[in-house]
Amino acid sequence: MTEPLAPGSVIGILGGGQLGRMLALAGARLGFDIHIFDTAAKGPAARVAARSWAAPWEDDGAVQTFAARCDVLTFEFENIPASALAAAESAAPVRPGRKSLEFTQDRLIEKRFIREAGCSTVDFAEVNSVAGLESAVARLGRPSILKTRRFGYDGKGQAVIREDTDLAVAWASIDEQPAILEAFAPFRRELSIVAARAMDGQMAVYPLAENTHSDGILRVSTAPARVSPETEVRAVEIAHAIGTGLDHTGVFAVELFDVEGELIVNEIAPRVHNTGHWTLDACACSQFEQHMRAVAGWPLGSPQPHSACVMTNLIGEDISPWADIVADETACLHLYGKRDARPGRKMGHINRLSPLLD
Ligand code: AMP
Repeated sequence: MTEPLAPGSVIGILGGGQLGRMLALAGARLGFDIHIFDTAAKGPAARVAARSWAAPWEDDGAVQTFAARCDVLTFEFENIPASALAAAESAAPVRPGRKSLEFTQDRLIEKRFIREAGCSTVDFAEVNSVAGLESAVARLGRPSILKTRRFGYDGKGQAVIREDTDLAVAWASIDEQPAILEAFAPFRRELSIVAARAMDGQMAVYPLAENTHSDGILRVSTAPARVSPETEVRAVEIAHAIGTGLDHTGVFAVELFDVEGELIVNEIAPRVHNTGHWTLDACACSQFEQHMRAVAGWPLGSPQPHSACVMTNLIGEDISPWADIVADETACLHLYGKRDARPGRKMGHINRLSPLLD
């Protein structure tokens, strides 16, 4: 077991978007110096950090130089190229570790791991060709969902196979990349559980959130979700099985489908997650602080909420009436400092608190 990092130590974050920004703010509050590595200069995280570096991921030398200035490294997104990860690891410990990244970067490996950890997934099949897609659809039926194994996010790299979908067109639409076909989950709602795991295996699990998406992008999270005690217990078991199975250090999130009360795991994010943004205002220790505590080797904080919360993402033009938004005194407002409100771009979020019900 390594020693906890002293305040004043440097924590480096790979990636410089809004998740890096909120991690940097939480880390600074705990007395750390936060350094950001990003491909673009002056991104959301760089503008609140002690120091920032901008270079392409392919520049192994730049990644290594950055890492050598840090006491420990973490990341805000899971698609870090393998060579950049190796360069980072050669100069400083990276937390969470390689297993968390490798098992969640690829949907096929991820789904197999989830099942081995004793959790349910939808039925799935590996797809590497149109012929493979045809036989997978014959087995899993329609509707079903074709997803690239790697580099998908916010519904990108996906094609829904409906009754009238031409399979060759669907295969072309995902650029003929290695993929999986997933059976369609007839879920009644989408839930997620956010948890933190410390280096000694201690875990802090937040209550379930209920999430609504449109166009593949999260719009609203409501937490704690109204679920039965059995569902909450099962979700905590799932979080423990996955956190332990990955030997994870830091925060992770598990996206779940509630199918007739059974929790089916959709995917794992090995990092802080949009469906945990409610913890910023409804819990004494947010997901961002938990993550910084975990990677620093500190004890975790309490995941207990003191309030209920509805978190609403501000996406693209949602930010245009900002003068009205900032005048709303019921809103705990978080803006990410992004300059252009492009469609689908996450510009900020609002947390609205209410008393916690029993
Ligand atoms: P993902 O990128 O895997 O998180 O998928 C984005 C969204 O698509 C999910 O939040 C669901 O709303 C929907 N979705 C993904 N996979 C399935 C599935 N197997 N069955 C039904 N809906 C799905």
